Amino acid sequence: QAKSKGKNNFQFYRSNHSNHIFERLEIEADLRKAIGQQEFELYYQPKINLQSGRISGTEALIRWKHAEKGMISPAEFIPLAEETGLIIPIGEWVLRQACIQNKKWQDDGLDPMVVSVNLSVRQLYQPNLVDMVQDILRETDLDPYYLELEITESMIMDTERGLKVLHELKDLGVQISLDDFGTGYSSLHYLKDFPINKLKIDQSFVRNSTEDKNDEAIIKTIIVMAHQLDFEVIAEGVETVEHLGLLQRNLCNEAQGYLFSKPLPPKDFITNFDRMKQIFDQNGISEDDSR
Ligand code: C2E
Ligand code: MG
Ligand code: MG
Ligand code: MG
Repeated sequence: QAKSKGKNNFQFYRSNHSNHIFERLEIEADLRKAIGQQEFELYYQPKINLQSGRISGTEALIRWKHAEKGMISPAEFIPLAEETGLIIPIGEWVLRQACIQNKKWQDDGLDPMVVSVNLSVRQLYQPNLVDMVQDILRETDLDPYYLELEITESMIMDTERGLKVLHELKDLGVQISLDDFGTGYSSLHYLKDFPINKLKIDQSFVRNSTEDKNDEAIIKTIIVMAHQLDFEVIAEGVETVEHLGLLQRNLCNEAQGYLFSKPLPPKDFITNFDRMKQIFDQNGISEDDSR
């Protein structure tokens, strides 16, 4: 059914109920086989340091190239992977792959970057997560400093266990960043106890920040608060030169978004470095202006 609609029209959820169940089972079976059939790929999106204009890091984002259905977005299959528990092997694959790639870039002589990997809630509570991360770091010989884990607020709210795992991860030397910040149940009470390094301002605030005074106010406030708490701040979804200016004037540390680059396969990621630097040099404000 889905196949006849063509590659780009694939959808999980259809109005017809029996189709829906059938397709779900089908996609679940496909997801189970996807690792073995090497249908996953990691794309990488740069993070730009807003003082130096250098590429300080990169986020690994998974892509599923389904044999018949074409590219399927993580927003569609990650929830299913979570429900079925398949996120555990998929997540391990992502971590290992990202570390291998980052180590390879370092060995190739690039300036070292921090690679960030998104963790899902099931992974945070899998019993052997900390050992697994440690094993992968050893196996790939990547310095833990160059691995960052992105988690969301809602994953750790009020659970002692979550906090404990985060502390153990931090003790390994990896960095931890709070993704989509501002969209969960932001509790300042928990924020002060989280062993994190960085807040990532959700793209929904960035999108209208140069037209909507309230979004602008929220962004400014998050940046000041983060710095007061000794966290770094990054903004995601930076699409325009105006976004960039606002963030720089308010001393945001890093930016990530389509203005600089979409997520790219590893080979294209590297060849885009010069172009990204150019975008920064042409549009970024110099340090003097930003004071
Ligand atoms: P996220 O971690 O918040 O990632 C940011 C998403 O915003 C990515 O979508 C990225 O491609 C997109 N994006 C980046 N810059 C811009 C921009 O300037 N404008 C707009 N409109 N969008 C931008 P993507 O790659 O489709 O990933 C969606 C979500 O899927 C991620 O949100 C993350 O929650 C999840 N995800 C992706 N890869 C993984 C993974 O390996 N493991 C887990 N557990 N989740 C993943
Ligand atoms: Mg993320
Ligand atoms: Mg995010
Ligand atoms: Mg997001």
